[in-house]
Amino acid sequence: MTERRARLDVLYTSIDARVAATHAASTDPWPCTVGCDVCCHKLSKIPEITDAEWDVLAAAIARVPANHELFAARIAALEGVEFGPVVCPFLAPEDGVARPGSCLVYDGRPAACRTYGYYAERGDLLGCATILAHDEDGAAGILWGNQLAVDRELDALCIDSSEGRRSIVDRFQEQFR
Ligand code: SF4
Ligand code: SF4
Repeated sequence: MTERRARLDVLYTSIDARVAATHAASTDPWPCTVGCDVCCHKLSKIPEITDAEWDVLAAAIARVPANHELFAARIAALEGVEFGPVVCPFLAPEDGVARPGSCLVYDGRPAACRTYGYYAERGDLLGCATILAHDEDGAAGILWGNQLAVDRELDALCIDSSEGRRSIVDRFQEQFR
């Protein structure tokens, strides 16, 4: 395992711990639950991720070859798109029923997908309206994660990278087309 990958694993483990602590601290059932994928339907822009995140995501994509045609068609439709809202190309197709596996690359999802709804930046929660309403008055006593610290660690992972953060559209086209 590369040093970069090991550091990303540590970061992902720390995010998992923060998410678990948030669930444990909430007296009401947490809104982010299996099958909720509203945020994945309206990404604000095409995700740009580090090489380290891509290595993990690409491995998850490689594990679901039956979905590659679907992914490729969606990625092709996103070429040239800069801003959202966009539907994530790795979301399961709509079929009108609850979808426990709505993220088809869940184990390899990037850092932003892992922190969304649980982390704040300079006091502002990065999450959907449902999450904001869930802890509207702060009474739940949730300790939000520090998004800037996550971003700093991701920046550090880019030090040995020639390209830093890049679009998942470009990365997919290069590796899977
Ligand atoms: S952040 Fe909001 S939309 Fe996304 S999974 Fe959580 S509750 Fe659902
Ligand atoms: S990678 Fe998965 S969790 Fe992230 S936006 Fe896409 S479908 Fe949602």
